[in-house]
Amino acid sequence: MAQLSDDCFAFGGPMMSVEEAVGIIAARVTGVEEVETVALTDADGRVLARDIAAPLPLPPFTNSAVDGYAVSGSTLPQAGEQAFAIAGRVQAGASALARVKPGEAMRIFTGAPMPDGADTVFMQEDVRVENDRVVLPAGLRPGANVRPAGEDVPLGYPAMQAGRRLRPQDVALAAAFGLTELGVIRRIRVAVFSTGNELVSPGEARAAAQLFDSNRVMLMAMLRRLGCEVRDLGIVRDDRAALAGALRKAAGAHDLILTSGGVSTGEEDHVKAGVEAAGKLVLWRMAIKPGRPVAMGIIGGTPLIGLPGNPVASFVTFVHVVRPTVLALSGAQLLPLVPMPVRASFAYRKKIARREYVRVNLRKADDGVLEAIKFPREGAGLLSSLVDTDGLVELGEQVTAVEPGQTVGFLAYANLI
Ligand code: AMP
Ligand code: MG
Repeated sequence: MAQLSDDCFAFGGPMMSVEEAVGIIAARVTGVEEVETVALTDADGRVLARDIAAPLPLPPFTNSAVDGYAVSGSTLPQAGEQAFAIAGRVQAGASALARVKPGEAMRIFTGAPMPDGADTVFMQEDVRVENDRVVLPAGLRPGANVRPAGEDVPLGYPAMQAGRRLRPQDVALAAAFGLTELGVIRRIRVAVFSTGNELVSPGEARAAAQLFDSNRVMLMAMLRRLGCEVRDLGIVRDDRAALAGALRKAAGAHDLILTSGGVSTGEEDHVKAGVEAAGKLVLWRMAIKPGRPVAMGIIGGTPLIGLPGNPVASFVTFVHVVRPTVLALSGAQLLPLVPMPVRASFAYRKKIARREYVRVNLRKADDGVLEAIKFPREGAGLLSSLVDTDGLVELGEQVTAVEPGQTVGFLAYANLI
């Protein structure tokens, strides 16, 4: 199981910046190291366990990039046209090729191996065939339209490093190398539960003052997109003993426990007390909006992150706190989220020393520039604001105001999870 050391945590004090909070977690989380072998067809989204050096060059042999006629670059027409005898034909996949002699051309197709003696290919669109001869124009560069062996990836090239989260194109590269399976880090196991007396699961009877739990299914979906194996622990009542019991049960068998709700400082927010009863609490008030209260703790060596209950706060703090933690636990490289510059169409005021995320839609303005349109309402409980927008504009700690026309950084939901 992944371990989290429990030394020297900061309590109380001023709000912690997102960067500081993530740094504290990252420094204390040890990535899972168990490796398993998966078929290439199951490797998408998994974390590569070992570096891969090219076991063969790509392409493996020199071949034609076009359909046309292969000739020797030393006998190209110098001026005007010149007719070459067509000496044969070579298709993709062909073997046992005849040699191309000076003054001869060989009919060739895309991907076919270059015959000995030939190093240049005329595109079929540029030539004229007359009986058993082909008329070639002057002016082609020797070596044109040929893909030399290894031009894509040379033999031994360090093609992919351990920690890469495999994408379809990465799996394609492994296939091009002839690999049938890959060593990957085992999926991390994450237990998820919601807290709150007001919550019921969809499908259950809902009393007048209750609402359906929407965070749990969202957080589980986000975790799965990050490659986690997710265990659904349902809803836990707002009760210290119940929370402590649920936490104890989840620890040990999981690499991470994720909860939502109950982390504020109201007397009905029992996660803090539950964590203190079951393990050790590290609580910080993070300088992030929507978000702010995010709890962290360690229950029997298993890290816990307690997200706020408001759906938008849960979503935003997942992206900025849980995502980096999950990637660190998964042994995956943490690539920084790079906001895309777009033009703000809105004015905005914010407090200094706090990072804020504004829900926006993107649209192409009349002058062709991408513009961010702010969702009209700001509440952290507005689930529709996440559904009806494209992503988040990130406003850094030092920003206090945005004016229309200003360039701001945009993070698309599609890139966040
Ligand atoms: P809390 O963080 O527990 O104080 O909850 C803040 C707000 O989020 C309250 O209005 C809760 O009803 C709501 N909330 C908490 N958990 C969930 C959940 N799992 N699904 C939907 N709303 C929630
Ligand atoms: Mg609550």
